[in-house]
Amino acid sequence: MHSLVFSVKKKGFPKFKSRKNPLQSFSVPQGYDVDFETHKIRLPKIGWVKTKLHRRYEGISKTATVSVTPTSQFYISILVDDGQEQPVVQHFDENTTVGVDVGIKDFAILSNGEKIGNPRYLKKSLLRMKVLQRRLSRKQKGSNNKNKAKQAMAKLHEIIHNQRNDFQHKLSFRLVCENQAIALETLNVAGMLKNHKLAQHIADASWSSFVTQLEYKAQRHGKTILRIGQFEPSSKICSKCGYYNRKLSLADRDWVCPDCGTHHDRDINAAINIRKFALDKQNSIGI
Ligand SMILES: [Zn+2]
Repeated sequence: MHSLVFSVKKKGFPKFKSRKNPLQSFSVPQGYDVDFETHKIRLPKIGWVKTKLHRRYEGISKTATVSVTPTSQFYISILVDDGQEQPVVQHFDENTTVGVDVGIKDFAILSNGEKIGNPRYLKKSLLRMKVLQRRLSRKQKGSNNKNKAKQAMAKLHEIIHNQRNDFQHKLSFRLVCENQAIALETLNVAGMLKNHKLAQHIADASWSSFVTQLEYKAQRHGKTILRIGQFEPSSKICSKCGYYNRKLSLADRDWVCPDCGTHHDRDINAAINIRKFALDKQNSIGI
């Protein structure tokens, strides 16, 4: 059995009624069709919707789950019985587990000290979007120019989406290949909804799609995703001696532990702690 995830083009898709629950989904146990030629999925009561079918699959389709993220990204995941056994889950320990922290400046920071920024082509597009947005806000409502600017924005959104997808596919594949387990912080979905800043929205949506990719790649390759709660103080604890630095503020990008004297890069220290907390949690539940 494998679970496949497809992203859905929003057009022609129904709105979910409740806005209270940030991550909404419904299951379709049967009665849906997948057309690989036209890249469409037909859902009961909804009809055909355009999707991005990442790959063809063979086997018996089981339940399909449709979900929508707070930023209105739609996904359909289909459980497929392809007659194949699940891969054997690889053993992992401290040396074969990587901790991953979400960055503000960088896309992700790894517990081995590596910082992974967004690729240059993506940064360029994001910058261009800021410019377009400013331009759009200055145009008169209902004017021809406003419509043109809107179209340009929509096109750029699409380009950014593809560029990001490409980058995330490569990165998630690499992380899954190089490690037996990957430790992450659980995303704060409630916080995401409160934040109306566009840039932050995009960053959050980007992280959640990255985690989705990590999850299904890990599952296919017998690797494990470990999670810690978002309120565990991964930034404030010295990963060397365990000292709790209450005074650390968001502006402090690096700090020296008053107890053991270790100099920490804030994000790398957090990534090391994410790995540590995740493994401790795993051990304490006796797996
Ligand atoms: Zn210390």
